[in-house]
Amino acid sequence: MSLFVAWLGALIALVAILVVPFTVPALRRALITRPLLLRFRRVMPRMSQTEREALEAGTVGWDGELFSGRPAWDQLLAIPRSTLTAEEQHFLDHEVETLCTMVSDWETTNVHKDLPPRVWQYIKDQGFLGMIIPKAFGGLGFSAYAHSQVVMKLCTRCATVAVTVLVPNSLGPGELLLHYGTDAQKRHYLPRLARGEEIPCFALTNPQAGSDAAAIPDWGVVCEGDHDGKRVLGLRVTWDKRYITLGPVATLLGLAFRAYDPRHLVGERQDLGITCALIPTSHPGVEIGRRHMPLNAVFQNGPNSGHDVFIPMDWVIGGAPMLGKGWRMLMESLAAGRGISLPSSNTGMGKLAVRTTGAYARVRRQFNMPIGRFEGVEEALTRMGGNLYAMDATRALTATIVDRGEKPSVLSGIAKLHITERARDIINDAMDIAGGKGICMGPSNVLGAAYMQMPVSITVEGANILTRSLIIFGQGAIRCHPYVLREMAATQERDRRRALLDFDRALFAHLRFAARNFLRALALGLTGSHFVRVPVDVAPETHRYYQQLTRLSSSLALISDVAMGSLGGALKRKEKLSARLGDVLSQLYVCSATLWRFEQDGRQPADAPLMHWAIWDAMFKAQSALEGVLDNFPNPMLGALMRRVVFPLGRPYVMPADELGHEVAKLLIEPSATRDRLTGGMFIGDPEEPVGLLERALALTMAAEPVERRLSDAIRSGALDARLPPGKGAPEIAARAVSAGVISESEAALLASQRELAARVVRVDDFAQDLGTSLLVPGEQGEAPMSAASASPRVFAEPDTMPMSAP
Ligand SMILES: Cc1cc2nc3c(=O)[nH]c(=O)nc-3n(C[C@H](O)[C@H](O)[C@H](O)COP(=O)(O)OP(=O)(O)OC[C@H]3O[C@@H](n4cnc5c(N)ncnc54)[C@H](O)[C@@H]3O)c2cc1C
Repeated sequence: MSLFVAWLGALIALVAILVVPFTVPALRRALITRPLLLRFRRVMPRMSQTEREALEAGTVGWDGELFSGRPAWDQLLAIPRSTLTAEEQHFLDHEVETLCTMVSDWETTNVHKDLPPRVWQYIKDQGFLGMIIPKAFGGLGFSAYAHSQVVMKLCTRCATVAVTVLVPNSLGPGELLLHYGTDAQKRHYLPRLARGEEIPCFALTNPQAGSDAAAIPDWGVVCEGDHDGKRVLGLRVTWDKRYITLGPVATLLGLAFRAYDPRHLVGERQDLGITCALIPTSHPGVEIGRRHMPLNAVFQNGPNSGHDVFIPMDWVIGGAPMLGKGWRMLMESLAAGRGISLPSSNTGMGKLAVRTTGAYARVRRQFNMPIGRFEGVEEALTRMGGNLYAMDATRALTATIVDRGEKPSVLSGIAKLHITERARDIINDAMDIAGGKGICMGPSNVLGAAYMQMPVSITVEGANILTRSLIIFGQGAIRCHPYVLREMAATQERDRRRALLDFDRALFAHLRFAARNFLRALALGLTGSHFVRVPVDVAPETHRYYQQLTRLSSSLALISDVAMGSLGGALKRKEKLSARLGDVLSQLYVCSATLWRFEQDGRQPADAPLMHWAIWDAMFKAQSALEGVLDNFPNPMLGALMRRVVFPLGRPYVMPADELGHEVAKLLIEPSATRDRLTGGMFIGDPEEPVGLLERALALTMAAEPVERRLSDAIRSGALDARLPPGKGAPEIAARAVSAGVISESEAALLASQRELAARVVRVDDFAQDLGTSLLVPGEQGEAPMSAASASPRVFAEPDTMPMSAP
């Protein structure tokens, strides 16, 4: 008995020693928090102003839920998809449709090397350059979703026109003026931008500073100078920029440079920081006009520079008070543009590739079969369909979130990275399926230019490797984590008492959060997440996905905490780990968007294979990313322990099944409402042009296939003799079949039309020997089979469509 009492006493004492420091705040702070705070201060690199501004930019929304370990799915599903107003829909059906008919990628690229002047004029007159400018300033005042629909549709027709329209509506003078401009600047410039009287560009990139844009060496010194006959305060600016889209034709140059005030004319500080100004390109000293040729794309892009150019202070966006606030302005405004422009244009490109490749795979026959029926081709078609479904879902959800007033800095980065990467996968698959048809350039090739120019999307608005390795998790983990930003702020706090209190509060809440995620991840792993609560009103076939994704979210939250706790600031340099953790977050977002879309679309049973494939593919990729983290954890023991917690019974996620892939591929190679939804919002155009021609050929092929089958059956059964003399072919067999009563005359005519159309679809363009001026005249043998040029040869004769470099 006395032994038991002694043992019990010892146990109570041990628990007291362990627990009391945690429960008595003063003791806890002295024994635990203070030493940890000191250690954190040592290991945490000091945050620069630019890093802090990048981290604090934007809002946290659904990304915070995905990081919480227990996403509130009801919240996501309660978000209604943005819809178009009657006016926006009218614009898409009329102005955008008209603009699409006015351009073709081939002519723009090879004939004009620019948009023709009448197209430039139409864009300006109809307000395409001012879609995001409110009506009060004469703009169209469109929602982010409407803006996205416009850019997506344009990109299914002509990349140059899409880029020309998207740039002024993305991060640039318009967006910056709206948020930070003085009233006078807004009143002067916004109506002019809206009416297309100004063509804007925004110049940040310098030869020395691309990805590391905050390090631009371009500078401006505060000083007095002469302007409009008066002595005024301003800046002498020197800059050297490259890659600037619309730069060569811009009338208004948005310029980022670092401002200095060595004579303290505006305040105490000498190095004021990055500053944004608007400079008319007609201003003396502005050097502009030369062009780059970005992978043969002909949207306007080029360098510009200036040396010691005096600008008055009221050309700084927001005036003198905004000197040095440029980086914050750029970071805050980046979210919306990055979430709309590239995601929309690349989804458009994906729609064009999926619709045309699916049709081509049905029309093109080899080994006496449509190529789309071979398993190898089917596998590529499956990826294309599944990827596009998820991309479009992610595009629509991100635009909707922007329309709700959020500035989703992390989610927009995910949308940009993952939609452009999936677009790259789509175009690669499409090119493989097209074979030589995708390789020979000409008006009938709708894939080649997109394939060539894909790296432009990968590189701009945050190059993808950088975005994946440094931004998504780096920014996401800190921004979206409920406690890390508070802990970091506490380590940087100069008031020691306040720092201790703040750090203590954040740290212990963080520890409770981590302990809960540890237990949840283990419990979900052991139970296969079967007991996770699922929103009541979801499609039954998606029920398990919510449970599985909650499990992945718990695993991400736990492993993120372990990685941040064990590596501290060194995690920033462990880019491979950071990238993989970012991949898990990204795939969770893609899955969220996919499930949200399935509900928003009304749970279409026929679309279900696309949804299922996209979810399984993303879950499998998330699992592979987690494994990559655990296998390479700098502390292998910790990695092995975490593996036991998150995958206690082995790997739960598998690649999408082949049978499911077969269902997806089938949806791409025949007309259906699902195919129309998958490629919804794209421009089809004239039935004689490549896309329209493929649509007709697909319809005829579908109609002809049963007749073909009857012919084959008759040949196999011996009812029809298929042995032919040299020079005779399918028409002869059809004629014999009519004589034998196997098919009717109208069916024979149908077969003939199908063969003729299929032959036109399969043909490629050819040109005269020199491949120079003769590029204008495809189809040497006298006809230009699928050529936009042959459909409207007059365009080559119109004086206003001659090659021009300026609008
Ligand atoms: C067609 C086109 C249009 C453009 N339009 C504009 C415009 O209108 N205005 C403007 O200001 N700029 C514009 N840009 C510039 C664009 O934003 C930059 O090209 C981009 O930021 C990358 O810079 P960089 O090309 O110098 O590559 P670099 O910075 O040299 O990067 C090269 C590679 O290194 C990777 N990398 C760099 N740092 C890291 C890191 N820390 N971790 C991991 N990977 C890293 C990058 O991801 C990239 O893959 C445009 C560029 C192009 C090509």
